[in-house]
Amino acid sequence: MIVQGAILDVDGSRPGYVRFREGRVVEVGGLGTESAHGRERRIRGIVIPAPVNGHTHLGDAVSVREPPPGPIARLVRPPHGYKFRLLAETPRATKLAAFRGALDRMARDHVAATIDFREEGTEGVRLLRDAARGMRVRAVILGRPLARPVDAGELRSLLAIADGVGLSSALEEPAETRSTVARACRSTGKRFGLHASEARREPPDSFLRPRPDLVVHLAHATVDDLAAVRDAGVTAAVCPRSNALFGRQPDLRSMERLGLKVLLGTDNAMFHAPSLWRELEFAYTATRLRRRPVSAGFLARAALIEPWRWLGEPAAARIAPGMPVPPVVVRLPPEDPAYQIVTRTTEHLIVPAGPPPGRRGLPR
Ligand SMILES: [Zn+2]
Repeated sequence: MIVQGAILDVDGSRPGYVRFREGRVVEVGGLGTESAHGRERRIRGIVIPAPVNGHTHLGDAVSVREPPPGPIARLVRPPHGYKFRLLAETPRATKLAAFRGALDRMARDHVAATIDFREEGTEGVRLLRDAARGMRVRAVILGRPLARPVDAGELRSLLAIADGVGLSSALEEPAETRSTVARACRSTGKRFGLHASEARREPPDSFLRPRPDLVVHLAHATVDDLAAVRDAGVTAAVCPRSNALFGRQPDLRSMERLGLKVLLGTDNAMFHAPSLWRELEFAYTATRLRRRPVSAGFLARAALIEPWRWLGEPAAARIAPGMPVPPVVVRLPPEDPAYQIVTRTTEHLIVPAGPPPGRRGLPR
């Protein structure tokens, strides 16, 4: 199969073609320089790195009803918020099925990986690992130890199976907890993330010390706060749809202007489908509603490029032969590729370059 049109990757966007064989990139070049291959499937479209969901709580997928009204704290604050009560009373098999449903939805969107904050301790991490087995979406799991003060043994066993720790926020977790967690993550080469300035502003010192690898939300951060995050070299994950449900909006325009490293996430799976395509379009439109527009290129990078850098796999963000994660082909006009991808992509426009998405070995 050959895709002629545009390429959008870590090097920006440009006209070009990509040739695939068995789902893998074998040739990339400028339009008009393609070698002849006789009869070959030809598609006009845009080739992009596989998207990564920068922030999810897939555990919330156990509830798909409209969440009860009230402040977000009553819904999602540990340990007695609505979702934590729900998680506690849901049987393991039901949770597994809900996780697999959410992962399957992401697979159909051709999302390659999700960075998930998994509650419920070591068992919670194990549950998502089990659910993700055999699925086409990689679960990057930041688990959360349960005991306070943090129990060294629990933290060790959690980090043995998790990719790191994702805490609630500095408002709920004292400096001592955060330091213990950050130190353990550093020494084991794992990631440490936490939520920050979601419901109200928090001073950057509170969530940047100890230094995390990821801060989530920053919906109430000032421009100076955002500059502090940038200066600390910390990546931010933003979740515009989730924030909007509670009347908030991250200042994406300032983030772009400051050159912050930003990921895009769909947050709590109980609020909406974990669709990064919907998130992209909403993020773009919402910044215009607020008259604080961001560029489509900035949002495309947040979904397609920055997460691969954060994961330490930048080669997955460059369309080239031998790239480790197969890219995604979208049947869209090649003009203004970032704008097309951000505002017009749906899963129906994605052309499988390789085996179909979904569970491995099973038909769609
Ligand atoms: Zn979160």
